[in-house]
Amino acid sequence: MNLWNDDIELDVRPVFIYGRYLKYRRGIPQTRWYCRECRGKGCARCNFTGKMYAESVEELIKASIIDEFGAEDMILHGCGREDIDARMLGSGRPFVVELKEPVRRHVDLQALEAKVNAANIGKLAVTSLQYVGRDMIARIKNANAKKTYRVVVELRIPVNKEALIDAVTKLSDAMIEQRTPLRVAHRRADLVRQRRIYELKLLGYSGNTCELEVKCDGGLYVKELISGDSGRTSPSFSDMLGVEAEVKELDVIDVEL
Ligand SMILES: [Zn+2]
Repeated sequence: MNLWNDDIELDVRPVFIYGRYLKYRRGIPQTRWYCRECRGKGCARCNFTGKMYAESVEELIKASIIDEFGAEDMILHGCGREDIDARMLGSGRPFVVELKEPVRRHVDLQALEAKVNAANIGKLAVTSLQYVGRDMIARIKNANAKKTYRVVVELRIPVNKEALIDAVTKLSDAMIEQRTPLRVAHRRADLVRQRRIYELKLLGYSGNTCELEVKCDGGLYVKELISGDSGRTSPSFSDMLGVEAEVKELDVIDVEL
């Protein structure tokens, strides 16, 4: 290496770190969403941030770790993603962060975990951080990980316990045909997918509200499993009850990998 020329050789391969994240607060997307109006340039709608949401899981983690590695940038690769309004609880969601052009390649990951968590109390936490190779990105991206959700459902009218139990029983271990939901049709191909429910449990009910736990294939849209999405998801919880049903609260409580 000759410092007097510009040919300093640095090892600029990215560093990859695997972990799981928990998201305790609703309204935080996994990654940055560019503003729909200006597509990131900045405008009045986004308060000149260029973003739809002030923060994301990716940006919150990045803020705590990028300087530790002296990296240029950091990208978060998630094993799927939860809805913005869903919390990510339980065992957390697997992810790999890719640190671009790091100056340092080895940082104490336990201390790093503590730093991320201390900076994000009440918002998010990371666990199980470990150094991995690039191949881990494909492994978590391609894993069709089973997911477990806790769902609070609002029913148009109160339904008795027997009818709720009957609907839950019929949907346990059912195969669901799901056409791409209307709410994501603008950004996803319009297809019909088959996804299995492994287990559906009634956790509680009161008046026109009930609480369910659903274990299903990754890629099943749970809000539409409940509402039926105007017939695009079949069978649905709403079909089985014969009553309109809508998700009021959604939490992911396990991602199996
Ligand atoms: Zn904007």
